[in-house]
Parts: sequence; structure tokens; C-alpha cells
Amino acid sequence: MPQTIKPLVAGNWKMNGSTAMLKEPRLLAAMMRDVKTKCDILVCPPAILTRRIKGVVKGSKIKVGGQDCHAAASGAHTGDISAEMLQDAGATYVIVGHSERRTNHKESDATVAAKAKAAHRAGLIAIICIGETLEQRKGGQTLAVLSEQLKGSIPEGSNAANTVIAYEPVWAIGTGLTASTAEVAEAHTHVRNDISKIMGEEGPKTRILYGGSVKPSNAVELMGAANVNGALVGGASLKAADFIGIIKAYM
Ligand code: PEP
Repeated sequence: MPQTIKPLVAGNWKMNGSTAMLKEPRLLAAMMRDVKTKCDILVCPPAILTRRIKGVVKGSKIKVGGQDCHAAASGAHTGDISAEMLQDAGATYVIVGHSERRTNHKESDATVAAKAKAAHRAGLIAIICIGETLEQRKGGQTLAVLSEQLKGSIPEGSNAANTVIAYEPVWAIGTGLTASTAEVAEAHTHVRNDISKIMGEEGPKTRILYGGSVKPSNAVELMGAANVNGALVGGASLKAADFIGIIKAYM
């Protein structure tokens, strides 16, 4: 892993958030004042809270992102949100292809690639998620599945500045199960090799996050695995006290 890669610790709030919960990013911003970290920090709330959280963390190094975007910039897509709208609300990143969207909304690799392309068009950094199911892992298909998803989900024009890859084994998301350090290292090294073929000289510089039940107690070990450049965190990003515990893996 080149030493120049700046890690990213990103929180995915999923469909959680309210006015009352604004106290958590406010607390996180206050806690960050006393913590010297070597990583970028991102919170991805439901889009309805983007602008408010942006205001709450103003003056801190915490960035705000979206959890999904439509491929089009605008139009007749009831209920959807475009990358341009997220950018307008203060987002600088957007997660695309999270396994919950791939499963619940039947998003294909082509759809994910179109969304990542939309993110780039709007000037956002796309966090492209990939990961195998338990069935695929048990069937020895993990690395082939990751290759297939990477091939189909990374649009042309992707580079280390506008793209982050998140490896999230589906069976580890929200389950309390985590991949072993060896499994993480194997998957991340495979992803590194693949993105170096797809993205050329940008591949070795691109951040690869691990996601799946990351918490303060396992963050140091997981973040220490080969080719891991940060974390995508669900449940443990909702409370400032937990999230800062993960961020501190990069002190
Ligand atoms: C996620 O939502 O991307 C995630 C990794 O969730 P959790 O940390 O709760 O497993």
C-alpha cells in the first residue's frame, strides 16, 4: 500500500436520523477538536439531513455525503435525488451500490456505474460498494464476484480523486460478524490488483475501505490489514462516542 493514501472513515446512517440525532455530529465535531487524526472523516445521513448536518459540523474536518443518487441530473423520477442535488446541499461524497440497494432495489453493476458516473459529473466522490454474499463465500466465489462487480461498477473517468471502493462482505453488514484479518487482506489485495488493471496508474492510489460490523474494539486490527485504507461504518457511526473510537484507529 503506498504510504501516500489518506484513509477515510465514513459513516453510513442508513434510514436513521432525526432532528434529535443532530446532537451526535455536533458532539463528534466537538470531540474532534482534541483529536489529531490522519484520516478524512465523512458522515452520510439520509439526504433530508444533509444540509443540517453540514451546518452542525461547520468549522470541523467532518465532511457530509449522500447514501445514493439517481443517474440523471433532474427529471421525472419521483422520490429520487440526483448527485447535483446532494452537491447543492453540501455533500462532497455519495455512496453507490451499497448491498442494501443492490438487494432491495435490484441495482445491477451497470446501474451502479451510471450512478458513480453521475457523482463524478456533479463533482462528488463516489464510494462504490462491492461484496459477496455468504453463499458466494461458502461456494469459493468471493474473488470472482468482486472482480465481476468491479468490472461492471467502475465507470470510465474514475480516478483516485473521484472514486473510493468499499469492500463490504454482505454477511458482515449489520450482523456483528466480521471478516478475519486474513480474509480482509486477501479481498483487499485482490481489489487493489483489479482496480490497477481497470484504472491504470490511479489504482494503486485509490482508497479501499472495509465495511461490515466495524466497531471501536476491532477497528485497529481491521484497519491494519493489507490494502485497507479506511472503513465504511453503519451502526457504530450513529453514536459519536462509538464513531470516534473507530476514527482513533488512525491517530
Ligand atoms: C454499512 O452499512 O455499510 C455497514 C458496514 O454497516 P455495519 O457497520 O452496521 O455492519
